[in-house]
Amino acid sequence: MPAITVPDISVLPRIPESDPLTARMRPVRSVTTAPHGLEGEGFPVRRAFSGVDLAELDPFVHLDQMGEVEYAPGEPKGTPWHPHRGFETVTYIIDGTFEHHDSNGGGGLITNGDTQWMTAGAGILHIEKPPEELVVSGGLFHGFQLWVNLPRAQKWLAPRYQDLRAQEVAVASSPDGGALVRIIAGEIAGQKGPGSTYTPMTMVHATLSPGARLTLPWRADYNALVYAMSGFGTAGEAAVPFATGQLAVFGSGNTLTVAASQSQESRSPNLELLILGGRPIGEPIAWMGPFVMNTREEIMTAIADYQAGRLGTIPATTAIHNAPTSIVESGPSERRPD
Ligand code: MN
Repeated sequence: MPAITVPDISVLPRIPESDPLTARMRPVRSVTTAPHGLEGEGFPVRRAFSGVDLAELDPFVHLDQMGEVEYAPGEPKGTPWHPHRGFETVTYIIDGTFEHHDSNGGGGLITNGDTQWMTAGAGILHIEKPPEELVVSGGLFHGFQLWVNLPRAQKWLAPRYQDLRAQEVAVASSPDGGALVRIIAGEIAGQKGPGSTYTPMTMVHATLSPGARLTLPWRADYNALVYAMSGFGTAGEAAVPFATGQLAVFGSGNTLTVAASQSQESRSPNLELLILGGRPIGEPIAWMGPFVMNTREEIMTAIADYQAGRLGTIPATTAIHNAPTSIVESGPSERRPD
């Protein structure tokens, strides 16, 4: 796993022990299993948020674990040109390389621990694919793409990109050194990650050694989602089991805890977690394919604008993200009591 690693975890800043007087532990509300699917031109994904109510995910909409897959030569795949409007994407590449180009002439390469933050805002066309030399050679590919919703007032912002390199990620350890914590966005115990979305959020990639526990302060005004990309562990004080490809949704509180099982498989010796939280937007959602808006009318407008070339001028093909092909609507999010 070439995502940021450190030779000596003991020299990292330590996240302090939680204070039992002020810590309010978040309970686990649900554990769901991500179904497998194919994205773009046919790369394998796990749809991490499948089966979870949009109100629980708010401000997030969609999360794909891309791979982990070992491609044969000639096999690596990407997406065709496709549009987006109304939200932001965060693409985190753990192993391998992704290349992107957009209809504004922007582009770049992200690899091994890098992230790309794209505000689609009012609209953009882009393509995401492995570079030609990797198509030829094949190789390991593993990453994530997260969709972060934008509030109504910000859906019409001009598109923007931030490409962040792996070295910019803040790293810390748990008090006993059993967990490596990579802070990609947001702040944990004074350590600040480089990523920035319009909607405030925290994103952490944590690696827990067998038997290790990780307890993090977690903003009470954010939601809390923990996805196991590989390994076996438990979520919450109640030690709810979860494993590779499963998402734990936490309830309210200001602290969350997870632990790695003592016994792991040799192919994934540690528990690898993606930990996400953001400030809920609390607006109605109308989502179809690559468009996330507030109303059906805005979805119809987005489709018309796309078809008329108003989202960009690159010749578009038909395939788009394997997201809803009819409109999915959700009322304003209301967090139910735990
Ligand atoms: Mn895209």
